[in-house]
Amino acid sequence: MSDSKNIVLTGIRPTGALHIGHLVGALIANVEIQNQGDYARMYGMIADAQGLTDNFDNPDKVRENVMEVALDMLAVGYDPKKTTMFIQSEVAELTELTFYYMNLVTVARLQRNPTVKTEIAQKEKFNGGVPVGFFTYPISQAADITAFGANIVPVGQDQLPMIEQTAEIVNKFNNIYGETLVLPHAVVPKAQAAARLPGTDGNAKMSKSLNNCIYLKDSAEDIAAKVKTMFTDPNHLRVEDPGNTKDNPVFIYLSVFAKPEHFAAFLPEYANYEELAAHYERGGLGDVKVKKFLNSVLQETLEPIRARRESFVARPDDVMDILREGTKVARAAAAETVNHVKRAMKLNYFE
Ligand code: ATP
Ligand code: MG
Repeated sequence: MSDSKNIVLTGIRPTGALHIGHLVGALIANVEIQNQGDYARMYGMIADAQGLTDNFDNPDKVRENVMEVALDMLAVGYDPKKTTMFIQSEVAELTELTFYYMNLVTVARLQRNPTVKTEIAQKEKFNGGVPVGFFTYPISQAADITAFGANIVPVGQDQLPMIEQTAEIVNKFNNIYGETLVLPHAVVPKAQAAARLPGTDGNAKMSKSLNNCIYLKDSAEDIAAKVKTMFTDPNHLRVEDPGNTKDNPVFIYLSVFAKPEHFAAFLPEYANYEELAAHYERGGLGDVKVKKFLNSVLQETLEPIRARRESFVARPDDVMDILREGTKVARAAAAETVNHVKRAMKLNYFE
């Protein structure tokens, strides 16, 4: 064990199975930190209560996906001996913190949160009005992060406004009630393509709710079929035409996933991504060939994850035990923070 003081938290909403956007946006960073050992504690939260804020009418969906997401986390290398995996709704202290933090955030500030704005605009079911629970979910996310004293939060780019909002809450709380909460820092992938991986349809974000995903649990056949029908450059009609790699998800995925060893194994005429992209841009390279290569790269990347997943699918009771034990640990840590918070707010009458 290192003498690191880092506390790391990742949160995933159980609103669907996880996809390759989650993998490169947040999951890989988490597993890397976990395996390098520079931390005091690591948490992997399944945010079911937050998932309900826009799926309150579909509790079965959220419940079923708790297991799916737990399997995906284990599949990519979350190690329950190192990372405390837990279920958000089982830690009641988080709602208590949310209630206190609500005093520290204005309605106008929430309305300005760009991620909340985008998400509200995308959700047709909110046309009749936005539920208060969804509108205030950045506050509950601040509770999730601060309850565990997390200073490192690996996330995709869309979550930056949430970490910013959490930092504001932390600063305001500490200013008013005295130094109590820890300031979090977001860890976002350096490459823009990984920080927000686009969808197979060319949409700016691969997202469970947009049906444009390659899932970690997709079979080899599913992956091949999805790659085959992926959006590319619509103006690249003939092989000899010059092509656009910038807004082309096939190339964006290759820039993230294709390693030199993939080129050596599957496309040795090119040494690396840059050579392949240059050929496409000058013309003379067909989409079929590039897609075939992308398929090989994704198969190679996802096959071991899928195999690991299968090993846990066969033991659902063990997975529930992991979550049960993790939740106990998380609850104890959050209870400690609530005690500090209440004492700071002078709500400790019976101490
Ligand atoms: P939902 O549509 O229900 O919000 P989601 O696909 O956005 O689902 P979340 O559970 O909200 O998934 O996000 C989990 C983590 O994955 C967050 O850190 C988020 O930033 C990251 N993430 C989600 N989609 C992408 C993507 N396309 N590229 C990179 N990171 C992503
Ligand atoms: Mg999301």
